Amino acid sequence: MKNNQWKRIVLKVGSALIAPERKGCSSRYLLHIAKFILQCRDQGIEVILVSSGSVAAGSHFFGNLENPSLAIKKAMAAAGQNEMMAAWDRFFDFPSAQILLTHGDLRDKERYDSVRETMFALLDNGILPIVNENDVVTTDELKVGDNDNLSAMVAAAADADSLIICSDIDGLYNKNPHTNTDAKLIKQVHNIDQSIYDMAGGAHSSVGTGGMKTKIEAAEKATSHGLSTYIINGFKESSFEQLILGNNPGTIFSPYDSPMKEDLHWMTHTAKAQGELVIEDGFDYPFDENSEQLTSNEISEVHGEFAVGDTILVRSEDGKHLAKAEANYSSCLLNFIATHDEEGDEFQHHTGPIISDKNIAYLDNSHEEAHK
Ligand code: GLU
Repeated sequence: MKNNQWKRIVLKVGSALIAPERKGCSSRYLLHIAKFILQCRDQGIEVILVSSGSVAAGSHFFGNLENPSLAIKKAMAAAGQNEMMAAWDRFFDFPSAQILLTHGDLRDKERYDSVRETMFALLDNGILPIVNENDVVTTDELKVGDNDNLSAMVAAAADADSLIICSDIDGLYNKNPHTNTDAKLIKQVHNIDQSIYDMAGGAHSSVGTGGMKTKIEAAEKATSHGLSTYIINGFKESSFEQLILGNNPGTIFSPYDSPMKEDLHWMTHTAKAQGELVIEDGFDYPFDENSEQLTSNEISEVHGEFAVGDTILVRSEDGKHLAKAEANYSSCLLNFIATHDEEGDEFQHHTGPIISDKNIAYLDNSHEEAHK
């Protein structure tokens, strides 16, 4: 039987599958995953692999320290990335390519488009892209932080139709299955709302950095781009046997009926705000073409440093995240206008809209953590 649903998929494999004992890479679980990748390619399905495991694979070079410093973790990642790539390569008789990304690369539209171009060129030439976060160069400011969210950003950038996230449990349960014997597996989720995030609460793996919450965030990013998203048990060979037959072995999250446009999706889920504008209470929100434009008159505070064209977060005085958008003015100029509040009235009226109306991403505050 054939899986007729997919043309291009992103498969996310976590550290626990690659280096289960944290003593270098093991082929124990990789074998059936590699077989699945081969079967997909045989059926004409393009695959992008997002593989964690560099830190876990490199840990044994540093005496498997319990609490390594950040510098040692980065060194583990540098040494382990080689091991991890080599571990995958052993299974394939076609070439693979390493793509190391940071959030800094994805939130910059030019670099994002460049990454897309590279991925398409690799796929066109039958090469398997293997993506990981570039842990060696990442600072807190620059990193995505977990490969679940990274895989969703990659899946959106690659115009994939499905994202498959491997977990250490069968999918999303209505409560933590490790502590509740009556926990039930949710087979299908149509709408990711706060109740879904609540279910994801406590379940987490001990080896990777992601838990169920980051998987739900990833599913939200991917489904809003029009991708179906699966959370499956990557430790079970049967999960992949079912997937290749077109069956759902875990939880499937349905894609949005009307997916977001590429640019808006990028703004909502990938772009990171470089600064914040706090707007005065009572301003007519939302500020789109049918309502008042946001001008400097409505701004009560400016935070961070940003340039024209940078992404900024607009929030209300009581802390609600309202929107992400492109700044039409730099923070420097806005601060100047703010300091001239008293005497600069005339000047203020000469400022145009503070944010560009091209690409405003209105934020749903019910689970705003996911959008940060
Ligand atoms: N980039 C990390 C690594 O390769 C993994 C991050 C994650 O597990 O989500 O070890």
